[in-house]
Amino acid sequence: MPSLIRIFADMKKFRIGYGYDVHRLEEGRDLWIGGIKICSDKGEVAHSDGDILLHALCDGLLGALALGDIGTHFPDTSDEFKGIDSKKLLSKCVDMVEERGYGIGNVDIMLRLERPKIKPHVNAMRQTIAPLLHCDIGDVSIKATTCEAMGFVGHGDGVDASAVVLLEVKE
Ligand code: MG
Repeated sequence: MPSLIRIFADMKKFRIGYGYDVHRLEEGRDLWIGGIKICSDKGEVAHSDGDILLHALCDGLLGALALGDIGTHFPDTSDEFKGIDSKKLLSKCVDMVEERGYGIGNVDIMLRLERPKIKPHVNAMRQTIAPLLHCDIGDVSIKATTCEAMGFVGHGDGVDASAVVLLEVKE
């Protein structure tokens, strides 16, 4: 049985993770992105609140730890997660990171959505996410683009997001 010190010495100083998620959009549903509800005629079709950006971020955190994907930990067949606020899922992923001796260095998230415009909401999203990650707002990057009317995003049928995360061993 290795000692705790030995386990710590064996830990990598950094771990990188990548996450991705995609959801269909339908009229009459809520549009949750980055922990906030955005006024829109269409929202995500999902088992949870459908927060695409937080799902990609969760997937990146789990990926950095090689713990599988979001569906492994929060299955969409479970009533426990029906309609759940994705901020709770994110906090559970952050707990998994911290339980393993890591903290979140920084995250960079890319969202693709045709409309509405996301830029006016980006700072509110960063202010919502940073405390959940126990990070400074300067460590949370959120970018968004349209798809210039091309493909499922461009036609307004769906939204997707990807996230890159860096974990650092806590000093
Ligand atoms: Mg999802």
